[in-house]
Amino acid sequence: MSDQHAFETLAIHAGQEPDPLTGAVVPPIYQVSTYKQDGVGGLRGGYEYSRSANPTRTALEENLAALEGGVRGLAFASGLAAEDTLLRTLLAPGDHVVIPNDAYGGTFRLFAKVISRWGVEWSVADTSDPAAVRAALRPTTKVIWVETPSNPLLGISDIAALAEVAHSAGIRLVIDNTFASPYLQQPLALGADVVVHSTTKYMGGHSDVVGGALVTADAALAEELAYHQNAMGAVAGPFDSWLTLRGIKTLAVRMDRHSANAERVAELLVSHPKVTQVYYPGLPEHPLHEVAAKQMKAFGGMVSFRVEGGQEAAVEICNRTEVFTLGESLGGVESLIEHPGLMTHASTAGSQLEVPADLVRLSVGIESVDDLLADLTQALG
Ligand SMILES: *Cc1c(COP(=O)(O)O)cnc(C)c1O
Repeated sequence: MSDQHAFETLAIHAGQEPDPLTGAVVPPIYQVSTYKQDGVGGLRGGYEYSRSANPTRTALEENLAALEGGVRGLAFASGLAAEDTLLRTLLAPGDHVVIPNDAYGGTFRLFAKVISRWGVEWSVADTSDPAAVRAALRPTTKVIWVETPSNPLLGISDIAALAEVAHSAGIRLVIDNTFASPYLQQPLALGADVVVHSTTKYMGGHSDVVGGALVTADAALAEELAYHQNAMGAVAGPFDSWLTLRGIKTLAVRMDRHSANAERVAELLVSHPKVTQVYYPGLPEHPLHEVAAKQMKAFGGMVSFRVEGGQEAAVEICNRTEVFTLGESLGGVESLIEHPGLMTHASTAGSQLEVPADLVRLSVGIESVDDLLADLTQALG
């Protein structure tokens, strides 16, 4: 499939030519670990062992590369496995990373509790302000790590401006594109060096698979990452790859509906007397709305808000919804609600990334928006 095709077409076809043996229009699940060699080293399809490469995973990896506009995509067992592989490829003891002041709790924990034990240093900056990021750079800084939109406060960072900051210092910009997906935002085209995904979320889209991905447009870096993917071994299995490919086929239509529904939800919350603040990049009052409008096609399905009455009131709302399911994760077709402080972001307690106690996070699904608005109205009371 040529890269000239539009996103929606690539999402369905890239990496997935009909199977040459049977004509199957969907790639088979190659549930296999090893491959017969025709004489030592005589590989029929280039495959020798499924940690190194597996045809179903290859289909996903080619699809991911096409959707993000990279030269290579790599699929992992989870988003954190992808992040770990990336960090141990790019960094050595003594190196420093700038991390954002709002990020997925597990990403923060990976830096603060795991990678730091190998002598990698990190410090926090407000990545929505390129000058603050520039000021945070040290002679040892190798990576600027950014989530945009960020989890859970929907902060926006200017990818092109940060690419400029990184490249003028001779270092790399990593963008976690999980919240936007490549349909809404293309970080590599804006200058980022590597895109990270938890494909568990919008890419998979159906809350039935955990996975991660790395995509880069830098051929030399792609080689290094692929080497480490094989050497570290945290790969996506064939069935997980297949489920993720199946989800990606509908990514474009899902993201359109997620965004439309979330916009209506944000409007409802803004006008609700018990809601004290709404975080959604599509709102004109969002401090970086203009940047979001410049670099995103629409504003996505994630909305967070704060309520009167502190943690107790926030928890009560989470317990009261009926259409929104109380649970961690995001990006599936079904709407989810959660309390970040006690759930997804508990690991940030006491840190610079701690989230407000009165915060509620919504992953707005693609159900009828009227049912979603009615459910939130009754839960807010
Ligand atoms: C969930 C998430 C991750 C981690 O991905 P897993 O698949 O859960 O390992 C990373 N970044 C963001 C923004 C996430 O929401």
